Formats: sequence, C-alpha cells, structure tokens
Amino acid sequence: MADETGDPLIVLSAVNKHFGPLHVLRDIDLTVGRGEVVVVIGPSGSGKSTLCRAINRLEPVESGTITIDGDPLPAEGKALARLRADIGMVFQSFNLFAHKTVLENVTLAPVKVRRRSRAEAERRARELLDRVGLSGHADKYPAQISGGQQQRVAIARALAMDPKVLLFDEPTSALDPEMINEVLDVMRQLAQDGMTMVVVTHEMGFARASANRVVFMDTGKIIEDRPPEEFFTAPRSERAKDFLSKIL
Ligand code: ADP
Ligand code: MG
Repeated sequence: MADETGDPLIVLSAVNKHFGPLHVLRDIDLTVGRGEVVVVIGPSGSGKSTLCRAINRLEPVESGTITIDGDPLPAEGKALARLRADIGMVFQSFNLFAHKTVLENVTLAPVKVRRRSRAEAERRARELLDRVGLSGHADKYPAQISGGQQQRVAIARALAMDPKVLLFDEPTSALDPEMINEVLDVMRQLAQDGMTMVVVTHEMGFARASANRVVFMDTGKIIEDRPPEEFFTAPRSERAKDFLSKIL
C-alpha cells in the first residue's frame, strides 16, 4: 500500500508533449506514491505509452517538470543514466536479447550498470527467476521458451536492477490468452509485495484487484484519476463510460 507519510516517488507537473501538430500529452499532472500501483487505461492513441516513456525520458517533453524520488529528471548524460537505472520498464514486446540465455539477460545490466560481481549477479538472478516461476529455464534462449515465460524473464530482468519503480506498457497484449494469467500473477504478487508500479493495461481484473488508482486518459489528457472501485462502479466522464462500455 502507498506510504501516505512519505514523499511521492514520481511527480509529473503540467507536462506537455507534441508530435508535430499532435498534442499527445496535455498538462499532465500525476503523482505516484511509494508502494502505489497506478493503472493507466484509455483508448488507443490517447498517450499512454508516451506518458510511460516520458517518465524515464525515452521521450523528451517540451514543458512541465518530472521528478523521480525528489530529483528532477535530467536531460541527458550520466545523471540521466543513473536515474534510469532506478526505473524498470517492461514492454509489450519483451525485448529480450535473443542471442543471450535467460540467465545472461537477467545478469547483464546489474554487472554492467550496477557493477555487481558476476557471482553476485547470478545468485540474485536465480533468486528472481525462481520468484517468477522460471528456475528451470536459466540456460535456455528466449526462442526456446513461451511468450509468457519470456515476459516473466523481462520482469525478472527489470527487478534485477532493484528499481524504485516498474513501468509496464501493455505487458500482456502480445500474449496468447492462456499465458496472460501467468504474467498477471507475477504482477499481482509484486503489487502485494509493495513494489511501486505504473501499469498500462487493458486487464481490468488486474486494475480492480491490484490498483490503488486508475488513471483514465483520452486525447492526451488525464480525464479521471480515482480508486478502482469508484472508477468502475461510477465513472464520472462520458468518455470513460463510453470506453468502459466497449471493453467490459
Ligand atoms: P497509446 O499508447 O495510448 O496508444 P501513444 O502514446 O502511443 O498512445 O500515442 C499517442 C499519439 O501519439 C498517437 O496519436 C500516436 O500515433 C502518436 N505518436 C506516438 N509516437 C509517435 C512518434 N514517435 N511520432 C509521431 N507520432 C507519434
Ligand atoms: Mg501504447
């Protein structure tokens, strides 16, 4: 659960971003507390991915401020790399290194970026692979395991950096239906363990069960930002009602 007394972990304030003439983030204000799980939903093209990418500056923004754990997001250089190391990201498309084993995928960044010894990184990687239910798969290559297993490796890889927050951008959207739950189970467990998470997803069951807040976006704006039980039972905006009527 969110630590109500602590400073927030992520604060976006009046953030704006265009792609050419397209205004994709419009005056975004968003606060994520420590241990909070914020689920971001909204129609395709509403700016959800851009919002995620802005949080670790994969997309630069034009105005507004973004702070992570009290530090303003630096524009570039070592300071940005340091801050990014604290922000784990899990994509729809897994993005594992195809020519590296599962174990190597999970140990690479801790050794290179965190300067951990190989032995220490491997010990921790095996622990994390066990935690995501993949202890028997350390020496396989991504092509030898299922999509659901690959996505769980991607989660273990993100966790191996001991991030302050994990960002998920539609982590189950590329998966066959029978594999979705094995990934959501891992995410539910992380939420329960107090991991701070920002999750873009269409999995409303996950949102209802694990989110502290649901953020509904449309055309680059945050339209609603409320606890899931309120949002799902009584959406305030017509746009949210319309969206929910289409997906539920
Ligand atoms: P969502 O994740 O909610 O589907 P996105 O954040 O991916 O939305 O995209 C928001 C809008 O910005 C969409 O209209 C999309 O086409 C546009 N867009 C996203 N990335 C780029 C880009 N690199 N260049 C131009 N337009 C983009
Ligand atoms: Mg998207």
